[in-house]
Amino acid sequence: MKIFSFNNTYSSLPTELFHNTIPEQKENPQMVLFNNSLAAELNINTESINKNMLTNILCGNTLPEQSTPIAQAYSGHQFGQYTVLGDGRAILLGEHITQKNKRVDIQLKGSGITPYSRRGDGKATLSSMIREYIYSEAIHFLNIPTTRSLSVVSASTPAYREQPHKSAVLCRIADSHIRVGTFQYARNFCTHETLQALLNYTIKRHFPEIINHEIAALSLLKLVMDKQIDLIVNWMRVGFIHGVMNTDNMLVSGETIDYGPCAFMNTYNPSTVFSSIDEYGRYAYENQPGIAIWNITRFAESLLPLINSNNNIAIEKAKEILNSYESIFKNKFLTMMFHKIGITSPEKEDNQLLGKLTSLIEKHKADFTNTFVQLMYPEIELNECFKQQEFKVWITNWKKRVGDNPCVLKTMKLNNPVFIARTHLVENAITELSQNNNNEPFNTLMSALEKPYTLNMNYHNIMNPPNEAFDNSYKTYCGT
Ligand code: AMP
Ligand code: MG
Repeated sequence: MKIFSFNNTYSSLPTELFHNTIPEQKENPQMVLFNNSLAAELNINTESINKNMLTNILCGNTLPEQSTPIAQAYSGHQFGQYTVLGDGRAILLGEHITQKNKRVDIQLKGSGITPYSRRGDGKATLSSMIREYIYSEAIHFLNIPTTRSLSVVSASTPAYREQPHKSAVLCRIADSHIRVGTFQYARNFCTHETLQALLNYTIKRHFPEIINHEIAALSLLKLVMDKQIDLIVNWMRVGFIHGVMNTDNMLVSGETIDYGPCAFMNTYNPSTVFSSIDEYGRYAYENQPGIAIWNITRFAESLLPLINSNNNIAIEKAKEILNSYESIFKNKFLTMMFHKIGITSPEKEDNQLLGKLTSLIEKHKADFTNTFVQLMYPEIELNECFKQQEFKVWITNWKKRVGDNPCVLKTMKLNNPVFIARTHLVENAITELSQNNNNEPFNTLMSALEKPYTLNMNYHNIMNPPNEAFDNSYKTYCGT
């Protein structure tokens, strides 16, 4: 049954970095979601096999041809605390090569116990896998790098989380699952040769352009940092709060990974945090840039022996790169924010214009996404507060600044989504699909999210934020 064109390379790395592990058998597997367009895009061959076989493969009951299933080792700083982790509930089936010669990991998440499971059950709940499917696809269609979701298969075997829940397996696609935490693990628990092998592997797979650089580890640090800057700027552009930016949840490829407690901000408030366990707001909307550099510094620490055998020299060289983070981030962030109001060549006075808008929307508790939709489409009345004098003054000043150049609206339309995965709609779609077998709210939501930058009044309900009480009390959860 050749559904994937596997060419597995990670399993040729030193064996310290993984365990050969077979997925657990699931009872009564049912295909809940299958991403046809992603399958087609990746040339995953589903035509030659029947649905039953496909379901069994995507829940881990049947191994596809040429799979070398492994659980990957990694560690990570979780909320600042260093822990040994590893794939405790995921198995990499192999690396699939598309017709365009792109290499992607095919991973099953929720596939059962592995040597890294610690006290966990290796399972995932159906609702949390539907959540990951929705958010990862939403982020993808917003043109932000991310792992993707090929399928969700439910099983009758329960997952106990205070009470029994339906379990499920998600098939996750990623450029790779090499994390900052993978390097931390290699640095702290493996030989120097293994760390070197991981570096060589990562560079060959993701950044072949630096293979011959004099200090390749330093070039890698710079490239990974740049990718993370772009990623966080993009998240902030669309009001995305990742919610669990632990170092094990940061991929060196620069893709978004781990859709546990994430959510999109509704009301603009930079200190917004939804995660139930993030008591001190470590991963709040406005803290994401600071956490990213904290994580990249942990990455740099892991690379030190590869930068120079003299630790002090290595630290100095790494610092030169890390010290440039702040100014690069600030520049990219400001450029992005100016794009949101249609300004492509900002002048000094524009800082004040932008600052005034953000302070106004914060003061009036305006919806972040709809603020910019309102500016692009003034005819749709989305924000009551825009009727206030302060906003009218701001809009007059802004119009004076941007004029009627068609490029303004064009820039705004490329940068401001009309549709985001609103918290209340995500919850409703998950509940209806997982508990009532009703896929209509899910399908409607996904149809809007697939074209997030296109105004389509057929989906006008999806533009509405939840009510204030819902928004203020909304909580998300990790690892369910
Ligand atoms: P996450 O919160 O998904 O980033 O997971 C952090 C770590 O906990 C990873 O090593 C996971 O593999 C592990 N983990 C999370 N949930 C489970 C579970 N139900 N069973 C075993 N390991 C788990
Ligand atoms: Mg994780």
